[in-house]
Amino acid sequence: MNIHRITYNPTTNSCSLYFIGCNFRCLGCYWKKIYPTFNLKELRLLNLKEVMEILRPVSPEKVTIISGDPVENREFSVLPKTLYDEFRCEVRLMTNGQILPSLEGLKHVSLSIKALSDDLHKRYTGKSNTAPLKNFRFLYESGIELSSSSVFIPDVIDKEEIKGIGRFIGSIDRDIPYRIIGYMPVDGLPFRRPTYEEIKEAAASINGSLNNVVFSDPKEQDYTGIIDLFTNNLKR
Ligand code: SF4
Repeated sequence: MNIHRITYNPTTNSCSLYFIGCNFRCLGCYWKKIYPTFNLKELRLLNLKEVMEILRPVSPEKVTIISGDPVENREFSVLPKTLYDEFRCEVRLMTNGQILPSLEGLKHVSLSIKALSDDLHKRYTGKSNTAPLKNFRFLYESGIELSSSSVFIPDVIDKEEIKGIGRFIGSIDRDIPYRIIGYMPVDGLPFRRPTYEEIKEAAASINGSLNNVVFSDPKEQDYTGIIDLFTNNLKR
């Protein structure tokens, strides 16, 4: 697998597994800045056995898989079940929805919908949204706990797009939780952070399509106390 970092939060006894590489090429992605600074071939990427060895001493109660492997493979597919079988932990997946693992062992999936318009999705991510939207329905029909999110980027993924995504989710189930995340600017990329009012307006535009909409600004996140169990030190 392509796991390059594992973090641990002792307060909640929870871990996060971070994959490197992505099957999308989002125009506003933070990784655009990081990728040119290292040689992927020189990184130590963990296989399933190594991940389990690193997690064993802390025996986490909750594991969040952040995104997924860029390509389908057996280890990624059985990752949730392997984690659950060993630790009886809550396993959550945050994904762009392009590739899913087997749902066995998974408690919750949060699927980030980048854009509803396929043209915009192709321009923004380099890929069609056919697979993510199909997988979103599949996840809902499977009965797994499901939520969704989108990154609001002024003039790119704007209020109208967010409104369309809200309608799409509401056409499946109005009770699916949906989070609108304000874009965090990346140096050198021509996209700005939305104002609080803009995010609030985007959330309001969903207006009746969904029953559970929240919005947040990434700068509010608090990473205090989180430690690395394994890292390639890619932070710059
Ligand atoms: S899906 Fe996420 S990690 Fe992948 S390119 Fe888009 S923003 Fe970056």
